[in-house]
Amino acid sequence: FVSLTPAEAFAVEYWPLELYKLTLRPPERELAGRVAVITGGASGIGRATAYRLAQEGAHVVILDINREGAEAVAADLVSRYGEGRGMAVPCDVTDEAQVAEAFRRTVLAYGGVDIVINNAGIAHSAPVTETSTADWDRLYHVLVRGYFLVAREAFRIWKAQGIGGSMVIVASKNALVAGKNTAAYSSAKAAEVHLARCLAEEGGEIGVRVNVVCPDAVIRGSSIWDTRWREERARTYGIAPEQLEEYYRQRTTLKVNVYPEDVAEAILFFASDRSAKTTGGILTVDGGVPAAYVR
Ligand code: NAD
Repeated sequence: FVSLTPAEAFAVEYWPLELYKLTLRPPERELAGRVAVITGGASGIGRATAYRLAQEGAHVVILDINREGAEAVAADLVSRYGEGRGMAVPCDVTDEAQVAEAFRRTVLAYGGVDIVINNAGIAHSAPVTETSTADWDRLYHVLVRGYFLVAREAFRIWKAQGIGGSMVIVASKNALVAGKNTAAYSSAKAAEVHLARCLAEEGGEIGVRVNVVCPDAVIRGSSIWDTRWREERARTYGIAPEQLEEYYRQRTTLKVNVYPEDVAEAILFFASDRSAKTTGGILTVDGGVPAAYVR
């Protein structure tokens, strides 16, 4: 005699039994055999995405300037999922020779590339009058030039492969709504969104989709939320750094904080065939932030 939860009882009563059984089957691992390159996969959103895509069966290649961090994630993926399921390639995404070499190594190891997550990033917050030219250039170097170099290399391979591909651009809520004291960061993030739209146009001809995920603050697990960024953001809002998480939670419609794993789900959606007919799209992961609060 089996006791059913109310939800199960409802399902049994209202659905044909065979259909109900189908829902109990574990889903297919939808990225089995696919090769996914993730920039900035050693930490935060990139690392959570590496685990999520690997869980769905992908072979994950981690490009990161942080060699040790990338190697640790790759080794853990191999120990969890088996040989070849994780590979670390130390790479500074602002260096075109290193980016080309990283993709060459990926193709040599796996024979091609199916998914590219353009994610490696840094952050900076200061009033515009206190933003140095060096800080401005550094932000644009990593966030705009870096995303371009990775996209160019991926597109070159995808044109040669001729079987399409999926790129996910990890931008930011700040790309869509002005963030106070983040002129360099937010405008560079906005450039990434438009880069994605242009790439989506070009990619259509070769079956390549390009979509954007825009998270709001992801504090836990992210190394861009170092002491300096925390202090700068807290000063902007007139609160103590320890109050930041609560501040961000309270300003969302759902009263939640966003974690790297939440963003990884959105990235999986665009990386996989779940979004097969979407390109140039934008998905926010922000708990619902009324525009008026993002100031
Ligand atoms: P993170 O610092 O935890 O991870 C970023 C990774 O990128 C690190 O492993 C770092 O070593 C790597 N990296 C930095 N510069 C690089 C370079 N030149 N070449 C190769 N790798 C480099 O940060 P995160 O929070 O996971 O951020 C990931 C992306 O998400 C970034 O583009 C960031 O702008 C964006 N984002 C983050 C937040 C947030 O609040 N954390 C919110 C919105 C958007």
